[in-house]
Amino acid sequence: MSAVLKPNAAIPSVKLLINGEFIESTSREWRDVVNPATQEVLARVPFATPAELDAAVAAAKQAFSTWRKTPIGARARIFLKYQQLIRENMKELAAILTAEQGKTLPDAEGDVFRGLEVVEHAANIGTLQMGELATNVAGGVDTYTILQPLGVCAGITPFNFPAMIPLWMFPMAIATGNTFVLKPSEQDPMVTMRLVELALEAGIPKGVLNVVHGGPDIVNGICDHADIKAVSFVGSTRVGTHVYNRATLAGKRAQCMMGAKNHAVVLPDANKEQALNNLTGAAFGAAGQRCMAASVTVLVGEAHGWIPDIVAKARTLKVNAGHEPGTDVGPLVSCAARERVDGLIARGLADGARLELDGRNPSVPGYQSGNFVGPTIFSGAKPGMSIYDQEIFGPVQVIVSVDTLDDAIELINRNPNGNGVALFTQSGAAARRFQEDIDVGQVGINVPIPVPVPLFSFTGSRGSKLGDLGPYGKQVILFYTQTKTVTQRWFDDSTLSVGVNTTISL
Ligand code: NAD
Repeated sequence: MSAVLKPNAAIPSVKLLINGEFIESTSREWRDVVNPATQEVLARVPFATPAELDAAVAAAKQAFSTWRKTPIGARARIFLKYQQLIRENMKELAAILTAEQGKTLPDAEGDVFRGLEVVEHAANIGTLQMGELATNVAGGVDTYTILQPLGVCAGITPFNFPAMIPLWMFPMAIATGNTFVLKPSEQDPMVTMRLVELALEAGIPKGVLNVVHGGPDIVNGICDHADIKAVSFVGSTRVGTHVYNRATLAGKRAQCMMGAKNHAVVLPDANKEQALNNLTGAAFGAAGQRCMAASVTVLVGEAHGWIPDIVAKARTLKVNAGHEPGTDVGPLVSCAARERVDGLIARGLADGARLELDGRNPSVPGYQSGNFVGPTIFSGAKPGMSIYDQEIFGPVQVIVSVDTLDDAIELINRNPNGNGVALFTQSGAAARRFQEDIDVGQVGINVPIPVPVPLFSFTGSRGSKLGDLGPYGKQVILFYTQTKTVTQRWFDDSTLSVGVNTTISL
């Protein structure tokens, strides 16, 4: 929640970035950025004013007139430098991220690294932003395409990957010749701001990248702004649907990557040790606060007997502050998130699921006020129960048992979400049938969290996505550019015939 809280000397303020300057917001509305393991206030973040959003967009619009004509090699070299700076500052970035978000330090490095891979991809823009050419589409006529930047683009990001997801957005938008206004999560904006500082150090010119902070009002301002041409959003289904509707109504392109309920299917022939390790990591890593967390385990046939082994694995996980060595499960991002997850666990019990492992109120010596929930496992879950129907976004693994692979496929295809799915098996035939018939955008075969590397695009589907084109990979080049098709004929003076052609032909 925001409140009228001004920054003071003891608590640093998070700055806006407008036209190359990091400036203090004039807002009267601020919010604390809090360490979720200790409740220490790390900084205060402003809810930027409408005038500040206008100034950011105006700076981006002005910068676009020159940036769009900057040679592609010059744009690429900035991202070559940027990836080096991110590598050099990896430890510092991870420490900031863990302090404000809670995840473990190795996980925080993973968060930065998956974003860094997109920066490396942006450095390859020369071979990505190329058009097509066909000669002699009619006598002496050639047709070719040009992929031109759109103008000012904007990005709105969630709390759970405060490094990776901003890096999904502004590097590719800027590399393709656009300018950008970023609105980071107000819950953990500090690592995002450090990444933005490094981007300027790498050479991004003033006005090309701008940052405003805030909540619903600033997001609505972005959706409505006449000078913003495209909006990328990552976050919950509720907010993403609102952003998609509002931005497209205002004539913008929009891509919204949203909530999930990802199933991991286990066939009895799966390599048991590998599957158990993968299931545990994918359900409880980052305290379950991943859009690709494998939060539902579907045990097929005799694999139902593996429940005691799954519970035994989860019991070995260590719950502690993210910066403590050996931690497996850190705190949830906020007290509100912890209360919500505890409430859903209580609902699961009330709905009749069997609580195999109860992670509520874990003892974490030294961090009594942290937002901790330990690994929690339900069996006997089914559609209609809140723990199955809702995205819990916490360290809660929900087990469903079915008789056959066909039953598993039917269950998953009935679920409205389509972000990720995994199958554990040693049968190539079963894997092939699964990948063919499953209606989910990202499929892992013996891979629990199948997030594609940036050579490909992020391809969540159905209820997990609105808009046709996904982040990074080849798809995002089309999202951030307008294809212009040129059809041309050059007359050779020696054969030129003068006359008026009134027929519709080339
Ligand atoms: P969120 O939807 O609450 O917030 C996302 C952004 O929207 C933030 O910048 C926030 O300030 C803004 N916002 C919040 N409420 C708003 C409102 N009423 N109107 C306008 N803007 C608003 O999401 P979150 O809690 O930060 O992130 C977790 C969610 O994001 C989960 O549902 C998760 O699955 C999803 N997520 C999806 C992907 C994906 O690729 N599909 C990746 C990461 C996270």
